[in-house]
Amino acid sequence: MVITKEHIWKILEEVPDPEIPVLSVLDLGIVRDVKFLDNEGIEVIITPTYSGCPAMDMIAVNIKSVLQEKGIHPVRVTSVLHPAWTTEWMTEEGRRKLKDYGIAPPVKGSFDKGALFASERTVECPQCNSSDTRMVSQFGSTPCKALYQCNSCKEPFDYFKCH
Ligand SMILES: [Zn+2]
Repeated sequence: MVITKEHIWKILEEVPDPEIPVLSVLDLGIVRDVKFLDNEGIEVIITPTYSGCPAMDMIAVNIKSVLQEKGIHPVRVTSVLHPAWTTEWMTEEGRRKLKDYGIAPPVKGSFDKGALFASERTVECPQCNSSDTRMVSQFGSTPCKALYQCNSCKEPFDYFKCH
């Protein structure tokens, strides 16, 4: 069987994000490119959601093992930090999955200076869709999330933020 880039991309759909397993690395938009290397093997180029993200080593390991299970090896995973990942790279499907999982997806257009304008950002409650919410803590269960609470249904929820 001839392996094409399309096969590789298809397989990468099965690689979950270690922190939010309902999202694949493609949903997150962190896979930038797939290349065939001259001396056999492939290279997968990823951009971390933020530099120093502890989940990235895990993601590289997951990418390699999922591809190897399909008989594709050797696999080299390269991190590229520029241009920096933004939440805009997340797919629509990824945003939907995130919300179904109970995490508010990043607000569009909020990718530039998240922390500075955090108080002005309107985050919709993933439970009841109310926009009457408030931030409880800049840091949620992981550094990728902030903790919010909905004023309508009173439920706390995580908001997926940028860095
Ligand atoms: Zn709510």
